Amino acid sequence: MTGKKEKKEKSVSQFYKIEGDALKRTKRECPRCGKGVFMAEHKDRLTCGKCGFTEFHKTK
Ligand SMILES: [Zn+2]
Repeated sequence: MTGKKEKKEKSVSQFYKIEGDALKRTKRECPRCGKGVFMAEHKDRLTCGKCGFTEFHKTK
């Protein structure tokens, strides 16, 4: 029984791990300004300080 429960929790934590990693990789370059211009991270969005482009994080 314990083994079954562990397996289930493990798969859930793996899902969150992937999601967390994706959220961490938010250092994105501005699609308007191009390479070298990174977007500033905010709680729920990314903004470009150069052109003002804003991209919201995809949340369910
Ligand atoms: Zn920009």
